[in-house]
Amino acid sequence: MQGEKWLSRKASALKQGAIRAMFDKARSMENVISMGIGEPDLPTPAPICDAFTEALQKGFTHYTPNAGLPMLREAVSKYGLPEPNMYKPEEIMITIGAMNALSLLMLILLEPGDHVMIQDPQWLNYAAQIEYCGGVAVKLPTNPEDGFALKAQTIRDHYVPGKTKILLINSPNNPTGYVMTREDLAEIAEVAKELDLLVLSDEVYNTLVYEDAEAVSIATFPGMKERTVVINSFSKSYAMCGWRLGYAAGPAAIIDRMSKMQENFNSGANAAAQYAAVYALEHRELTEGIRESFRQRRETALAGIRAIPGMRCVAPKGAFYLFPDIRAFGLDSMTFCNRLLEETGVVCVPGSAFGDMGEGFIRIAYTAKQEDIAEAMRRMKEFCAKL
Ligand code: PLP
Repeated sequence: MQGEKWLSRKASALKQGAIRAMFDKARSMENVISMGIGEPDLPTPAPICDAFTEALQKGFTHYTPNAGLPMLREAVSKYGLPEPNMYKPEEIMITIGAMNALSLLMLILLEPGDHVMIQDPQWLNYAAQIEYCGGVAVKLPTNPEDGFALKAQTIRDHYVPGKTKILLINSPNNPTGYVMTREDLAEIAEVAKELDLLVLSDEVYNTLVYEDAEAVSIATFPGMKERTVVINSFSKSYAMCGWRLGYAAGPAAIIDRMSKMQENFNSGANAAAQYAAVYALEHRELTEGIRESFRQRRETALAGIRAIPGMRCVAPKGAFYLFPDIRAFGLDSMTFCNRLLEETGVVCVPGSAFGDMGEGFIRIAYTAKQEDIAEAMRRMKEFCAKL
């Protein structure tokens, strides 16, 4: 490619994620049903869009402070945290999606060689960000037998004195849909304190929980608030992925340095979107309609998967993903997904894209319309019957 010679070594090594690759392949095909990308198909609720228009009319067309509009930081403090006012506005930073919160954190926290523990399987971008910033992503294996629960003992087993600095957790989880239990989190909190770890808690799916599950934040356990950065976003809870708005709440020095980093790299998040997000936070009930849509889609997807002989799937209680076991079909997950796409037009993501422990599984994002999910499941059943 032209210009290659000017790239840094690190940039030359950047790879495209497996999800994007599937998506690109699907774009050249017809009659495709995509259950590949983790994005709600629903539109942003209309009143939030109206608030955005109002913001433009009111002149929210300028740069905002690097850490975000004070009114939004206040609204996050009141309505957007695991407990109201648990972090003060000055302990909150508005970011360009949760991704920007995570990347700023990696930029300000990591020294070369620092270990960051992440779950395996796990969202692709964590390891990429950690490694680009000079850290080492240490993968904590989790098992399908208990729905991919992260156990405190696994953290102990992977701890390296003088190296391990951060534990990054994500519940409800992408890609498994697993929701960490209060009991497991209590044990993990104890280990984090004992090993003096900073915990980054990615809670972007915390409004999407089903059945009897509750999205508990590790920051709410005694002694944890001061060693936890809570990361959240408007993307999934309000169907606002394209608005690129998220936030981080945590110890003041960390938030302060994130904001200084933002000043140098991105300046800040979109002004009118921030104004509209205040409306969103003051109307938390808007997230309920979105959860209900996904609850119904989840039922359809689960029923479809369970009707496929040989496919095994626990019923994950969070996010909008199923992570069924395809080992009975004798194909690795990449081959399974490529053939599924080529032969049926259904896009899913190979579990191997999310880490070693994801091999033998596929990720289904039930973010399509009900009838499309039902049709995709019918096609998948036919495909599996031929294997
Ligand atoms: N964290 C997890 C676990 C995700 O799955 C995603 C998006 O898929 C993000 C963060 C990014 O969210 P945002 O759109 O707010 O950047």
